[in-house]
Formats: sequence, structure tokens, C-alpha cells
Amino acid sequence: MSSDLLQIYDQWQQRLVEELPAAIELRHRIHAEPRVSHDESDTARLVTEALGAPDVPSIAGAGRVVRIGPSTGPSIALRGELDALPIREETNVPWSSVNGAMHACGHDVHLAALVAVARAARSLPLPCALLAVLQHSEETFPSGAYELLEAGAFAGHDVRAFLGVHLQPRLAEGVAAATAGPVNASSDEFEIVVEGRGGHAGYPHLTQDPVVALAQVVVALQHIVARNVDPTRAAVITVGTLSAGSAANVVPGRAEARGSLRALHPDDREFLHRRLVEVSEQVAAAHGCRAEVRLTIGEPALVNDRRLAEACEPWLAKSGFVPGEAFRSCGADDFAYYGAAGPTLMAFVGTGSGADDSPGLHHPRFLPSDLSVHHVAQAMIAAAVAAFEDLAR
Ligand SMILES: [Zn+2]
Repeated sequence: MSSDLLQIYDQWQQRLVEELPAAIELRHRIHAEPRVSHDESDTARLVTEALGAPDVPSIAGAGRVVRIGPSTGPSIALRGELDALPIREETNVPWSSVNGAMHACGHDVHLAALVAVARAARSLPLPCALLAVLQHSEETFPSGAYELLEAGAFAGHDVRAFLGVHLQPRLAEGVAAATAGPVNASSDEFEIVVEGRGGHAGYPHLTQDPVVALAQVVVALQHIVARNVDPTRAAVITVGTLSAGSAANVVPGRAEARGSLRALHPDDREFLHRRLVEVSEQVAAAHGCRAEVRLTIGEPALVNDRRLAEACEPWLAKSGFVPGEAFRSCGADDFAYYGAAGPTLMAFVGTGSGADDSPGLHHPRFLPSDLSVHHVAQAMIAAAVAAFEDLAR
């Protein structure tokens, strides 16, 4: 830790404390007026006004990039997500949403923290620019991160690191983790259509039953992760929907399933794609039916840069966080797309009470405390200072 950076860090944390009351108010306002993916212009306006940059142009929809510090030269990017989820809120706080959408993924907290961090940074002698990235549509496909990159949102900014912080109720409050390597999974969706021959329920020998065939496919798919993937590496195949038929006494002609494929390693991801097709086609064929598999490719795995992660840990500790154990999950975040444009670091900040049944992310009663605005902001500063440090090496 150089003395210059230490000084910046200390001043940044002090100014952050002055920004917090307004940031918490902003959090309540954003929470009360959520906007779902691809409809976040109102939220972007609130945030850019709070940043004192109401005229910054929109990119790829509601996205915005606000540059702070030196107007030329390299930069580091700090992301906040603009979108809420189509969930009916059940928290009963006075600043609950009433419009059928909800900030159930903590993006209200992330945005408020980002505003506080960016405002506190304005008078600091930053060694390079800080980009406040207001990213739309994290929760849907096509993803906002992908769209910002495609639209050239970072052209001319020479971004040296992409940083993000996400709340994580599976970590205890006061814990933060910046784990090197893959921390979130790639996420792809699939659809399996099994075609057979329908007929009378009482004459099964005259049909090729796609319901039984698909049921066997679903069971066989579970063996791919259990028996084919290296057990020390995480992967998931979840079948989330099943549909077939319209009457109890009719064998239908077709049956369909949709599901999610996740993997922490790119080679496992490709392997899952291949086995999904093989197993579906061959199990269906063994039952006299024909399976067709369609894949929709989503975000890649989110990989934390080792140097950035290692540089961040001591700054998190200095900020008073209890060092977490390595934290990885098969959740997915479109932040992973930034990995194609530069080194990435996602830190996770705990909001958990330790109870296993407390409302998690995307739950209608998920409600992190206002203290989490401070925690996320502190972790953002730790990540930014670590990136400055890495830049100087
Ligand atoms: Zn989220």
C-alpha cells in the first residue's frame, strides 16, 4: 500500500460518510419507484441527477457512463445495475414499491452506493479516471452489459479494470469476499421437444409415448452432472418446465421441457451442451420417439482476475470486513461479459442473518438494511483502490 493510495483511501472513506444520508434517501426513492429491464430511463435520470451529470447521453437504451477525475487517459469502471424484477413486493416498509416491480436483487443498494462513492471521489486526486457505469437490463436477455459493449460504451476510456459489488445473503452481514477465479457460472437455456405418436390411453401399444420418453430424458440428464462432470467442479442442469397433453385419457403426440445449464468452467459448459443433445436424442430414440434440442446461449462464467482479487483483500480487511471464505456460486451475472474487454472483479458483500430460511435474492421479502449501502460503498472503494494499485505495478 503506497502512502499516496492510503491517503486517497482515507479521504475517500471520510467523504463517503458525508454522502451516506443522501445516498440512503436515494436508495429509498429508487426502491419505491422500480423499473424493470429495458424500461429503466426514469431510474437512470434519478441517478445521473444525483451524480450531477443529468445531460450525459444514454447508450443502448437506459445505459449511461459518467466519467469522474482525469478527462483523458486510462480509467477503471465501476458498475451499478439499473433494473428491478417483475415481483410484487411484500416487505411492508413505508418505501415499498406499489407498481408490481421490485428491487429484489439489491440493485437499489448498489446504485445508491455507487452514487455515494462517485460523489465522494470528485474532489480526490485520483490516479486515473473512475467511470460510473449505470447498466440497464442485468436481469434479462439480451443483457445490458452485452449491449453496452456492443454499442462501444467504453470506446476512448481505455478501461483497465471492470469492478462490481453485489449483495449476497448467503454471506453473513459484515463479511466480504473477493475470490480469485470463477465466482459465477455461465448460464444457458435449453428447450427439448420430444415427438412421438399420440393415441388412446387404453391402447399404449399403438402409440409412441413422448411423456414417458421425456420423463426418462429428464432423469438421464441428471446423470450428466452426477457421473460425467469432474465432481470437484460445479455444474448444474435444472429442468424448470415440463408440458404435454390436454386430457387424462389421451397419449399426446409431443412433450416439451425447458431448463438451465450452468458451469463455472468453459470446457464443462461446452461438454454440457454436447451431452445434453446426445442424451436427449438417444434416450428419446430408445423409447421410439425423436428429440430436438434448442440452446439459447447466455452469459459466460464470471471470472475474477487473480491480481485484482488478491490486491482487493487487504483493502476489504482495512475497511473492517471480516474476510470471507472463497465464495462461488452457480448464480449468473451479466457482469461476466465485461471479461471480454478487460480484467474483472466482482466482490460479494454479506447481508445474511445466518438463518437459512431468511429471504434470499429475488424473494418478495428480500430487504437488506440501509447499512448495506455503506458496506457496498466501502467494498467499491476497496476494489477501486486495489485497481489503482494494480495499475501502478
Ligand atoms: Zn443482481
